Amino acid sequence: MDRAHRVVCLGPRSIAGVKNVYRVRVSASLPSSYLKWFRAGVLAELKQVEPETVGLDCARCFMVTPRGRTRDLGPFRQELKCCTFTPYLPSYSLGGLLSHEELSDVWEDYFPKVRLTPLGALPRVPGTSICEAGRHAADRCAFLEKSENPGCRIFDSRPSPCSSYVCTGGGDEFFKSWQRWGETLSSAEWELAHEVAFEAGYTFDDVEMEFAGMDEAIAFYRRAATLALELRSRSR
Ligand code: SF4
Ligand code: SF4
Repeated sequence: MDRAHRVVCLGPRSIAGVKNVYRVRVSASLPSSYLKWFRAGVLAELKQVEPETVGLDCARCFMVTPRGRTRDLGPFRQELKCCTFTPYLPSYSLGGLLSHEELSDVWEDYFPKVRLTPLGALPRVPGTSICEAGRHAADRCAFLEKSENPGCRIFDSRPSPCSSYVCTGGGDEFFKSWQRWGETLSSAEWELAHEVAFEAGYTFDDVEMEFAGMDEAIAFYRRAATLALELRSRSR
Protein backbone atom coordinates (compact mmCIF):
# COMPACT_ATOMS: atom_id res chain seq x y z
CA MET A 1 0.00 0.00 0.00
CA ASP A 2 1.55 3.35 -0.81
CA ARG A 3 2.11 5.99 1.78
CA ALA A 4 -0.68 8.23 0.55
CA HIS A 5 -3.24 5.56 1.29
CA ARG A 6 -2.03 4.14 4.55
CA VAL A 7 -4.55 3.98 7.35
CA VAL A 8 -3.09 5.76 10.32
CA CYS A 9 -3.86 7.07 13.75
CA LEU A 10 -5.15 10.59 13.56
CA GLY A 11 -4.12 11.47 17.03
CA PRO A 12 -6.81 12.39 19.50
CA ARG A 13 -9.23 12.95 17.13
CA SER A 14 -11.52 11.78 14.59
CA ILE A 15 -12.93 13.88 11.82
CA ALA A 16 -16.18 15.57 12.75
CA GLY A 17 -19.21 14.06 11.09
CA VAL A 18 -17.50 10.88 9.85
CA LYS A 19 -18.71 7.73 11.60
CA ASN A 20 -17.59 4.11 11.84
CA VAL A 21 -14.88 4.11 9.21
CA TYR A 22 -11.14 3.95 9.33
CA ARG A 23 -9.63 7.36 8.82
CA VAL A 24 -7.41 7.67 5.79
CA ARG A 25 -4.89 10.45 5.69
CA VAL A 26 -3.31 11.95 2.61
CA SER A 27 0.07 12.79 4.10
CA ALA A 28 1.88 12.20 7.36
CA SER A 29 0.13 13.57 10.38
CA LEU A 30 0.45 17.23 9.55
CA PRO A 31 -2.80 19.23 9.72
CA SER A 32 -3.49 20.16 6.11
CA SER A 33 -3.80 23.89 6.82
CA TYR A 34 -0.20 23.89 8.03
CA LEU A 35 0.95 23.16 4.50
CA LYS A 36 0.12 26.74 3.64
CA TRP A 37 1.67 28.34 6.72
CA PHE A 38 5.03 26.55 6.84
CA ARG A 39 7.96 27.16 4.53
CA ALA A 40 9.26 24.31 2.39
CA GLY A 41 12.35 23.93 4.62
CA VAL A 42 10.21 23.48 7.71
CA LEU A 43 8.01 20.92 5.97
CA ALA A 44 11.14 19.03 4.90
CA GLU A 45 12.43 19.03 8.48
CA LEU A 46 9.11 17.66 9.71
CA LYS A 47 9.18 14.98 7.05
CA GLN A 48 12.55 13.78 8.34
CA VAL A 49 11.19 13.04 11.82
CA GLU A 50 7.84 11.69 10.72
CA PRO A 51 6.91 8.76 12.99
CA GLU A 52 5.70 5.31 12.05
CA THR A 53 1.93 5.36 11.70
CA VAL A 54 -0.57 2.98 13.27
CA GLY A 55 -4.06 1.97 12.21
CA LEU A 56 -6.70 3.09 14.71
CA ASP A 57 -10.40 3.62 14.26
CA CYS A 58 -11.14 6.68 16.36
CA ALA A 59 -14.88 6.19 15.87
CA ARG A 60 -14.46 3.07 18.02
CA CYS A 61 -12.05 4.72 20.41
CA PHE A 62 -9.45 2.22 21.60
CA MET A 63 -9.14 3.94 24.96
CA VAL A 64 -12.76 3.36 25.94
CA THR A 65 -11.63 -0.18 26.74
CA PRO A 66 -7.81 0.10 26.74
CA ARG A 67 -5.61 -2.98 26.42
CA GLY A 68 -1.85 -3.49 26.46
CA ARG A 69 0.60 -0.59 26.21
CA THR A 70 -1.14 2.79 26.12
CA ARG A 71 0.10 6.33 26.47
CA ASP A 72 -2.56 7.40 28.99
CA LEU A 73 -4.20 5.36 31.69
CA GLY A 74 -7.84 5.41 30.60
CA PRO A 75 -10.48 4.25 30.28
CA PHE A 76 -11.70 7.29 28.36
CA ARG A 77 -15.33 8.30 28.08
CA GLN A 78 -16.66 7.70 24.58
CA GLU A 79 -18.08 11.22 24.32
CA LEU A 80 -14.73 12.76 25.34
CA LYS A 81 -12.11 10.40 23.88
CA CYS A 82 -8.66 11.99 24.20
CA CYS A 83 -9.89 15.57 23.74
CA THR A 84 -9.89 16.64 27.37
CA PHE A 85 -7.60 19.64 27.31
CA THR A 86 -7.58 23.16 25.90
CA PRO A 87 -5.11 23.46 23.02
CA TYR A 88 -2.82 26.39 22.21
CA LEU A 89 -3.68 27.89 18.84
CA PRO A 90 -0.99 29.96 17.06
CA SER A 91 -2.04 33.45 15.98
CA TYR A 92 -2.04 32.72 12.24
CA SER A 93 -4.00 29.49 12.61
CA LEU A 94 -6.53 31.23 14.84
CA GLY A 95 -6.84 34.00 12.25
CA GLY A 96 -7.65 31.43 9.60
CA LEU A 97 -10.22 29.68 11.78
CA LEU A 98 -11.97 32.93 12.67
CA SER A 99 -13.13 33.19 9.07
CA HIS A 100 -15.00 29.85 9.33
CA GLU A 101 -18.65 30.76 9.93
CA GLU A 102 -19.49 27.22 11.02
CA LEU A 103 -17.27 27.75 14.07
CA SER A 104 -19.05 30.91 15.27
CA ASP A 105 -20.58 29.09 18.27
CA VAL A 106 -17.19 27.79 19.48
CA TRP A 107 -15.44 30.98 20.48
CA GLU A 108 -17.56 31.84 23.52
CA ASP A 109 -16.53 28.45 24.93
CA TYR A 110 -12.85 28.60 23.90
CA PHE A 111 -11.85 32.22 24.56
CA PRO A 112 -12.52 32.28 28.34
CA LYS A 113 -10.14 29.30 28.69
CA VAL A 114 -7.18 31.02 27.03
CA ARG A 115 -5.05 34.16 27.23
CA LEU A 116 -5.25 36.04 23.94
CA THR A 117 -1.71 37.21 23.17
CA PRO A 118 0.27 38.19 20.05
CA LEU A 119 1.62 34.62 19.92
CA GLY A 120 -1.88 33.18 19.87
CA ALA A 121 -4.30 31.71 22.38
CA LEU A 122 -2.41 30.31 25.39
CA PRO A 123 -4.34 27.96 27.73
CA ARG A 124 -4.95 29.34 31.22
CA VAL A 125 -4.57 25.89 32.82
CA PRO A 126 -2.12 23.09 32.00
CA GLY A 127 -3.26 19.95 30.19
CA THR A 128 -4.70 16.91 31.96
CA SER A 129 -2.40 14.23 33.40
CA ILE A 130 -2.08 10.71 32.01
CA CYS A 131 -4.30 9.56 34.85
CA GLU A 132 -7.06 12.10 34.27
CA ALA A 133 -7.13 12.30 30.45
CA GLY A 134 -10.39 11.31 28.81
CA ARG A 135 -12.40 11.24 32.02
CA HIS A 136 -13.84 14.62 32.96
CA ALA A 137 -16.46 16.57 31.03
CA ALA A 138 -15.15 19.81 32.56
CA ASP A 139 -11.85 19.31 30.65
CA ARG A 140 -13.57 18.85 27.29
CA CYS A 141 -11.99 20.73 24.36
CA ALA A 142 -14.18 23.50 22.93
CA PHE A 143 -13.55 22.16 19.41
CA LEU A 144 -14.85 18.67 20.08
CA GLU A 145 -18.24 17.96 18.55
CA LYS A 146 -21.05 17.63 21.05
CA SER A 147 -22.30 14.14 20.30
CA GLU A 148 -22.10 10.61 21.67
CA ASN A 149 -19.22 9.78 19.32
CA PRO A 150 -17.61 13.11 18.52
CA GLY A 151 -14.92 14.28 16.10
CA CYS A 152 -12.74 17.37 15.93
CA ARG A 153 -14.32 20.47 14.39
CA ILE A 154 -10.95 21.94 13.43
CA PHE A 155 -9.35 18.75 12.22
CA ASP A 156 -7.45 20.41 9.34
CA SER A 157 -6.02 22.99 11.75
CA ARG A 158 -5.61 20.90 14.89
CA PRO A 159 -2.45 22.01 16.69
CA SER A 160 0.69 20.00 17.52
CA PRO A 161 -0.44 18.22 20.72
CA CYS A 162 -3.43 16.88 18.78
CA SER A 163 -1.50 15.97 15.62
CA SER A 164 1.20 14.17 17.58
CA TYR A 165 -1.00 12.24 19.96
CA VAL A 166 -1.11 8.48 19.63
CA CYS A 167 -2.82 6.39 22.29
CA THR A 168 -1.35 2.96 21.51
CA GLY A 169 0.57 1.07 18.87
CA GLY A 170 4.08 0.17 20.01
CA GLY A 171 6.78 0.22 22.65
CA ASP A 172 9.08 2.90 24.05
CA GLU A 173 10.75 3.76 20.72
CA PHE A 174 7.39 4.10 19.01
CA PHE A 175 6.07 6.58 21.60
CA LYS A 176 9.40 8.44 21.63
CA SER A 177 9.31 8.87 17.86
CA TRP A 178 5.83 10.39 18.06
CA GLN A 179 7.01 12.65 20.85
CA ARG A 180 10.01 13.80 18.78
CA TRP A 181 7.75 14.59 15.85
CA GLY A 182 5.36 16.48 18.13
CA GLU A 183 8.20 18.54 19.59
CA THR A 184 9.46 19.46 16.12
CA LEU A 185 5.98 20.49 15.01
CA SER A 186 5.44 22.44 18.21
CA SER A 187 8.73 24.33 17.68
CA ALA A 188 7.75 25.16 14.12
CA GLU A 189 4.36 26.49 15.26
CA TRP A 190 5.95 28.55 18.02
CA GLU A 191 8.75 29.97 15.85
CA LEU A 192 6.33 31.09 13.14
CA ALA A 193 4.09 32.68 15.78
CA HIS A 194 7.11 34.70 16.98
CA GLU A 195 8.07 35.70 13.45
CA VAL A 196 4.54 36.92 12.77
CA ALA A 197 4.41 38.88 16.01
CA PHE A 198 7.80 40.52 15.35
CA GLU A 199 6.69 41.34 11.82
CA ALA A 200 3.68 43.12 13.31
CA GLY A 201 5.96 45.19 15.56
CA TYR A 202 5.81 43.29 18.85
CA THR A 203 9.02 42.56 20.75
CA PHE A 204 10.21 39.87 23.17
CA ASP A 205 8.96 42.14 25.97
CA ASP A 206 5.34 42.25 24.88
CA VAL A 207 4.88 39.18 22.72
CA GLU A 208 3.12 37.28 25.51
CA MET A 209 1.10 40.20 26.86
CA GLU A 210 -2.66 39.67 27.01
CA PHE A 211 -4.61 41.87 24.63
CA ALA A 212 -6.73 44.46 26.43
CA GLY A 213 -9.87 43.53 24.57
CA MET A 214 -11.38 40.89 22.34
CA ASP A 215 -11.74 43.23 19.34
CA GLU A 216 -8.03 44.08 19.40
CA ALA A 217 -7.10 40.40 19.64
CA ILE A 218 -9.36 39.30 16.83
CA ALA A 219 -8.17 42.09 14.54
CA PHE A 220 -4.57 41.01 15.19
CA TYR A 221 -5.27 37.32 14.52
CA ARG A 222 -6.93 38.10 11.20
CA ARG A 223 -3.85 40.14 10.28
CA ALA A 224 -1.55 37.37 11.53
CA ALA A 225 -3.01 34.93 8.99
CA THR A 226 -2.08 37.35 6.19
CA LEU A 227 1.36 38.08 7.66
CA ALA A 228 2.19 34.36 7.86
CA LEU A 229 1.37 33.93 4.19
CA GLU A 230 3.46 36.99 3.30
CA LEU A 231 6.43 35.70 5.27
CA ARG A 232 6.23 32.40 3.46
CA SER A 233 5.96 33.94 0.00
CA ARG A 234 8.88 36.28 0.77
CA SER A 235 11.12 33.33 1.64
CA ARG A 236 10.71 31.68 -1.77
S1 SF4 B 1 -7.77 7.74 22.23
FE1 SF4 B 1 -6.84 6.81 20.42
S2 SF4 B 1 -8.50 5.75 19.35
FE2 SF4 B 1 -9.42 7.18 20.83
S3 SF4 B 1 -9.82 9.03 19.63
FE3 SF4 B 1 -7.82 9.26 20.61
S4 SF4 B 1 -6.29 8.53 19.09
FE4 SF4 B 1 -8.34 7.79 18.47
S1 SF4 C 1 -8.52 20.63 18.80
FE1 SF4 C 1 -9.70 19.77 20.48
S2 SF4 C 1 -11.23 18.48 19.50
FE2 SF4 C 1 -9.61 18.88 18.00
S3 SF4 C 1 -8.19 17.19 18.15
FE3 SF4 C 1 -7.44 18.82 19.48
S4 SF4 C 1 -8.29 18.38 21.52
FE4 SF4 C 1 -9.48 17.20 20.02
